[in-house]
Amino acid sequence: LFVVFEGGEGAGKSTQLAVLAERLRAQGRDVVVTREPGATPVGERIRSLVLDTGTDEAPSPRAEALLYAADRAHHVATVVRPALVRGAVVISDRYVDSSLAYQGAGRTLPVDEVSWLSSWATGGLKPDLVVLLDVEPRTGLSRVETRNEGADRLEAESLTFHERVRYAFLDLAAGDPKRYLVLDASRPVDEIADAVARRVGELLAD
Ligand code: C5P
Repeated sequence: LFVVFEGGEGAGKSTQLAVLAERLRAQGRDVVVTREPGATPVGERIRSLVLDTGTDEAPSPRAEALLYAADRAHHVATVVRPALVRGAVVISDRYVDSSLAYQGAGRTLPVDEVSWLSSWATGGLKPDLVVLLDVEPRTGLSRVETRNEGADRLEAESLTFHERVRYAFLDLAAGDPKRYLVLDASRPVDEIADAVARRVGELLAD
């Protein structure tokens, strides 16, 4: 089973991912927790190319899209597919939808082209479930600021950039409701975790 968590800045993905992994492990399941970008040594170097650069050195939008795609191709080939083949539950912090939302809607690259690139990179591997933690950008960004993490890079993007990203995620979910679980990220952590566990439990029972 391949589960992906998506959402804007400060949506609480990492908290929810950890809770889900812990619950599944407590049931004795083989669980692989991973993320994009940066889950592999190659990916870590790509992550630093896209995320640790000053705004004046940042890769151009098309270069950025290719770097995320390269990270994803390597991630799927070396981490995700092997784990799925051996029957593990793979839980990834971000996947293809992040590229459609950030590089497509955010950077205004044609979304169908970004989608094609991702599908080439992954050999067409789709998640069984995407948990979208939906957060209003102002709220999410203020949560990140309090953590004081990546604040400079995030401030470089306008609020409208983050709004485009948010609505792109919501549109993707609306277009394929069976594959998505959309949750309001401002709800209490436990409520969100229970809703996620319920849906994952149903999928595992199928
Ligand atoms: O989820 P996490 O906070 O690790 O993501 C790091 C950053 O990478 C986010 O701020 C997001 O803006 C950016 N990102 C992106 N395009 C992707 C994936 C992540 O711009 N495809």
